[in-house]
Amino acid sequence: MNEIELLQEMIDNSNNIVFFGGAGVSTESGIKDFRGNNGLYKEKGKYSPEYLLSINCLLENEKEFFEYYKNNFDCSKYLPNITHKYLKKLEDSGKLKAIITQNIDGLHQKAGSSNVLELHGTTLKAYCIDCGKEYDGAYIFNCKGIPKCDCGGTIRPDIVLYGEMLPDSFNEAIKYISSSDLLIVAGTSLTVEPACSLINFFRGKNFVILNLTPTPYDDVASLVINKPLKEVISKLK
Ligand code: ZN
Repeated sequence: MNEIELLQEMIDNSNNIVFFGGAGVSTESGIKDFRGNNGLYKEKGKYSPEYLLSINCLLENEKEFFEYYKNNFDCSKYLPNITHKYLKKLEDSGKLKAIITQNIDGLHQKAGSSNVLELHGTTLKAYCIDCGKEYDGAYIFNCKGIPKCDCGGTIRPDIVLYGEMLPDSFNEAIKYISSSDLLIVAGTSLTVEPACSLINFFRGKNFVILNLTPTPYDDVASLVINKPLKEVISKLK
């Protein structure tokens, strides 16, 4: 039995699967990985990407914040790939209980998945900092300059910025992970938080890592496959 057949068997035998995905899930849709070799973090500019995506920048330097955000985070043109589509199918079958993602592109929703926990928020939504009124995420990308609410407040993306707390979905993610019996972690090197703390809550039977490169958790995983995601997913049924 090869590694993909083994994964298929684990999926067949489980009725409580949780999928935890990182940037690698979206790169096959053409979206840049923030931390990868060609990622945004490697780009040089006046300010670091960490600053441009921070709550401090939003509060003290709005113009730079929105310029950077609008230039880099409009995900509307991207489409779900084979992994997003497979997960939708797995959710429909009742086996997959939750998708936990570190991505902010909304591609799981575009694929039709319903129980998606977005640890870093989503670019598909926005809200007014002052009155809380909710806006479609596209509003920010379609407006000129700094997006303003009817009340005069600034409209910000509903993503978690550097310097901000993780959302409630983090606690929900812990619940799903700690009660699942098959945890599939994909497209993340598991070197940054909150990924590491989250998977430590897993108490189930099979822990699978699908990633191009080795991770610090490979030793404790039931199965590790270092292949492009689409190669693995395309062979699953
Ligand atoms: Zn407002």
